[in-house]
Parts: sequence; structure tokens; C-alpha cells
Amino acid sequence: MRILLVEDDRLLGDGLVTGLRTLGNGVDWVRDGDAALAAVEAESFAAVVLDLGLPRRDGLAVLRTMRGRGDATPVLVLTARDEVRAKVEALDLGADDYVLKPFDLDELAARLRALVRRSRGRPVPLLTRGDLELNPATREVRISGESLALTSREFELLSLLLEGKGRVQTRRVLEEQLYAWGESIGSNALEVHVHHLRRKIGGDMIRTVRGVGYMMMDDEAAGA
Ligand code: CA
Repeated sequence: MRILLVEDDRLLGDGLVTGLRTLGNGVDWVRDGDAALAAVEAESFAAVVLDLGLPRRDGLAVLRTMRGRGDATPVLVLTARDEVRAKVEALDLGADDYVLKPFDLDELAARLRALVRRSRGRPVPLLTRGDLELNPATREVRISGESLALTSREFELLSLLLEGKGRVQTRRVLEEQLYAWGESIGSNALEVHVHHLRRKIGGDMIRTVRGVGYMMMDDEAAGA
């Protein structure tokens, strides 16, 4: 999923970007509050990881402005142990969750997945289509119970297609969710991932809608 990271500490930011990308997320990193607001206005993110102590405009001000604009993007706040008041204030302002620094990357990633899931009104974490089953929490994909090995991009693409099952998803939206700004994308990178996915999950599940994008076929529509 596409995540906006707002963190001014270079070392921490670097570590988070690397860690979250390794887990298959598209991560955009901005280092101050103004840039954060510009980013959430310009793009849509599955979640925002928001540090509170930031230059130009602090995390609480960012959150207040976002919620004031009616922006409901899930926000996970990063706080230091001595920022108890700020943490409470952040939750009251509409933050969805928080982690205390220093934190464990796996825990942060799990909390992110949980809050994105809640925000999409999906209490059951499994995504399914026919006998295909994707577990966002364990990152396991199975077909008829058989485990399937996917690259992290293939996994993300399959998640997006399953979440939008039965709806056409445009190339642009898919690419926006899969890649961060400035990441060089070959013009046919998406096709290549779809091609590999089809080879692994079977050719009839993903329909190409020429000139538009792709669609994960509904269970009924494909006769599954
Ligand atoms: Ca900071």
C-alpha cells in the first residue's frame, strides 16, 4: 500500500523508508509539516505515518488541518515517551493509532495494516476470490490451500485488485499505489507484474480493460 511518511529525523526516516519498502509498501517521505499537507492534498495514501515534532508546522497542526478539510486518511502518530499530552491530543484530533519511539518496525507495520483495514470497513482480514486467498497480515497467498510465492510488488498489486474486485482499476491509480514519487517506472512495468501474476494465479482472474486498466473478475462473473 502507498504510505506517506512525515519524519524530520534523517536516520529514523531512512530506516522507516527502507523497512516499509522491504515489506512491499510504496513510501513517500516528507520532512516537514507543510510538505505533509501538500502531499496529502495532491495524492491519495492508504495511511500517513506522522511524527509530532516537525519543522514549519508540527504534527498536531498537520492532523488538525487534515481533519478540518475532511481528510479521513488513517494516521499513525509517532511519539516520544515524554509526549504523553501530545499523544492524547493527537488521538482527540483524529489520529487512529500511535507508537512510542523507539518502536519495532514489525509492530508499526502491523498497526498500519490494522488501521487501514479498519478504515476500509473490512474487519475480516482475508481477501478472497474463488479459491484464491490473500492474508494481508501474514502476507500469505494460497490457491486451494497451496501456498504461492509472490514478489512484494506482485503481492501489493494482487491486494489492490482483490480489494477492488469487480471494478475496473485504472493504470494510473494502480501505479500511484504501487510506486512512490520519483521511483522510475518502466512504461510497461505494470503489464509485466500483471503478466507474472497471471502465470501464478491463473490467466482468467484478471481482465485487461484496453486503454483503461485492469479488473479482478467477480467470483460469479468468472463462473467460479
Ligand atoms: Ca521529529
